[in-house]
Amino acid sequence: MFDLLVIGAGPAGAAAAAVAARHGLSVSVHDRATFPRDKTCGDGLTADALRRLEALGLDPAAVARWEEVHEAVLHSPSGRRVELPLPDDGTFLAVAPRRDLDAAVLGLAREAGAKIHEGSELVDIRLDADGVTAAFSDGAVDARWVVAADGVWSRARRSLSPSRPPNLGHFHAFRQYFSGVADPRLHVLFEPDLLPGYFWVFPLPGGRANVGFGVPRVEGVPTRYLAGLWRELLARPTVRAVLGDARPDGPVRAWPIPARMRAGELAYGRVLFAGDAAAVADPMTGEGIAQAVATGTAAAEAVAAEVHRHGAGDAGRVREAYLSRVESEIGADHRFARGLGRLLATPRGARACIRAAGLSGWTRRNFGRWLFEDYPRALILTPRRWHRGMFAGRGAYAPLATEAGIRSGTRGTWGARGARDSR
Ligand SMILES: Cc1cc2nc3c(=O)[nH]c(=O)nc-3n(C[C@H](O)[C@H](O)[C@H](O)COP(=O)(O)OP(=O)(O)OC[C@H]3O[C@@H](n4cnc5c(N)ncnc54)[C@H](O)[C@@H]3O)c2cc1C
Repeated sequence: MFDLLVIGAGPAGAAAAAVAARHGLSVSVHDRATFPRDKTCGDGLTADALRRLEALGLDPAAVARWEEVHEAVLHSPSGRRVELPLPDDGTFLAVAPRRDLDAAVLGLAREAGAKIHEGSELVDIRLDADGVTAAFSDGAVDARWVVAADGVWSRARRSLSPSRPPNLGHFHAFRQYFSGVADPRLHVLFEPDLLPGYFWVFPLPGGRANVGFGVPRVEGVPTRYLAGLWRELLARPTVRAVLGDARPDGPVRAWPIPARMRAGELAYGRVLFAGDAAAVADPMTGEGIAQAVATGTAAAEAVAAEVHRHGAGDAGRVREAYLSRVESEIGADHRFARGLGRLLATPRGARACIRAAGLSGWTRRNFGRWLFEDYPRALILTPRRWHRGMFAGRGAYAPLATEAGIRSGTRGTWGARGARDSR
């Protein structure tokens, strides 16, 4: 009987496993994939994601490909461009292919002592008063508690609530890797027909980029038509101006993004849902890595506190502890972002936001920091999170960058990483 069973080893599951194992719990992690594995994603790491990964102990040097970003370019529906510089006091934005990032984060769980089972697919899960029995493709596991971090289609949720309709996601997003990109900065293009969705070009080492777009899914409309839109988008002059003669160097992939968190669906008996399985991605941008690490960490801490204080423990108490932590860390931001998404839904609203962002040097610097989650989305509405210096915080990995004194050029690429990037 393990203290904790973690299903899914993406950022949510790997964070939960690392934290629980460091708290001294016996942890068994199962993923149907074999790592390193790809995950359809934009690969963008916001300031919030970076800080959470740093707190978890992730060293960027352990991630095979990692590109720091120091400037983002927003493209308004009218074609106007606004350049948002990010501070160079630490890392505020980075791009790392999920194939590399997720393997490195899972490495932290392994180092902490969690037992990792790859190629192990959850088939079914059963609850009883004192624990859980889960059937995997390679055998059964008993545990006191479960963190279900098995992504948007969550098999764990479907096993526990078979009558619930499958989660088709709030956004549907496409992604393809390209080589030889003309403009190597990070671009977000608010094309009028995608709003409140957007097109992105996120730079990777060696002139490559993660290119994609995401749009809200329309209830009842199959997403097949988006494949044609993808081809048409790639031919648009606004997109070609960024890509130049870039060529695809991998297949196009599409995947849903669940961004409709509901408190009532975060826990079920002794099972706590985290990351995409809990639909916690940002409803405005679709970013979900920071939220996956946040919920995985919160779930592991709720379980660890209960195991240390009460042994077998009480599911109601753990559920309350988990809900309260998720609400205090991301609840207000999630609701606020959902409202802002409505503002960005029209070309007029998007134009007004981008015009406001570009008003002055101060607005450009601070809009960039806010958009990429350096400040909590709803900071303005949550005075409990106000503190002196909240608009002047350093980015992630700042002490190491300063100490080593190896930042070079305007991109602020780390010396050691620069060498790796050029491979
Ligand atoms: C096109 C696209 C672009 C995106 N861009 C960004 C971005 O730039 N930045 C950002 O922050 N977020 C982005 N997101 C969102 C982000 O990818 C997710 O929110 C994030 O991956 C959630 O992490 P997770 O650990 O919850 O789930 P996942 O990363 O999906 O991991 C779930 C794991 O569960 C495993 N699994 C599934 N079923 C089973 C089973 N039955 N048994 C065992 N294991 C199972 C899977 O193999 C997988 O490893 C994007 C999403 C999409 C679709």
